[in-house]
Amino acid sequence: MEKRYEGKAKILYATDDPDVLLTVFKDDATAFNAQKRGQIQGKGEINCTITAALFAWLGSLGIPTHYLDQPAPTQLRVKSVQIIPLEVVVRNIAAGSLCKQTGLAEGTVLPFPLVEFYLKDDALGDPLLTPDRLRLLNLATPSQVEELRRLALRINEHLSAFFQRCEITLVDFKLEFGLDSHQQILLADEISPDTCRLWDQQQSDPQARVLDKDRFRKDLGQVESAYQTVQQRILAQLGPAYT
Ligand code: UDP
Repeated sequence: MEKRYEGKAKILYATDDPDVLLTVFKDDATAFNAQKRGQIQGKGEINCTITAALFAWLGSLGIPTHYLDQPAPTQLRVKSVQIIPLEVVVRNIAAGSLCKQTGLAEGTVLPFPLVEFYLKDDALGDPLLTPDRLRLLNLATPSQVEELRRLALRINEHLSAFFQRCEITLVDFKLEFGLDSHQQILLADEISPDTCRLWDQQQSDPQARVLDKDRFRKDLGQVESAYQTVQQRILAQLGPAYT
């Protein structure tokens, strides 16, 4: 198969159908704009399975996604889309760069969900965009930006309530979107412990509760078992229709 693109955590292949791509999830892990590199055993399979389950479930709730099916444990078939080069981050609780840039204490519950747009450009270090810079770069029209914000907030409502049922707090997460051949905006990429901050409500210790890539970023150990816990709780909550 023809390789279309290789990213840090996934490889994209063309298929016989020009409207369909195959995404293969890797165990490779990177952090701090790829300055830290490693492997998380079994991550490809876990992130692929979690993404498939959550995208199928969000699709059933009326969120348009690029997901088609999961032909193998590390593979997703997805609709071919043109990725909008923006990272859309939604935050419910202060962590990570929000704390560094604002001085808010980690764990501060935000009075409303924050939606932020970052430029998806590794060479520039994925900078945070202001509304005017977003307009200047014109990577999406103002009405598309509004649609991205609406979709991100709807996804946050669904996911926050869902993770609550898993006894996990959805702290923040990153989404990517693409345009299909009809210019429709579809949720794309992945939703996984690589792209979300997830805190275990069954643990009170601030390090023990971390169930996401911060375990890798901060060398907290037990990365694989944290990812497995997330997968198990999600699949148990969704039930057989999505597993
Ligand atoms: N995130 C991501 N990819 C990126 C940057 C951020 O998936 O390139 C996710 C990250 O895992 C977290 C959220 O987006 O769930 C917010 O990340 P933040 O801006 O705090 O950056 P970080 O502290 O991870 O550098």
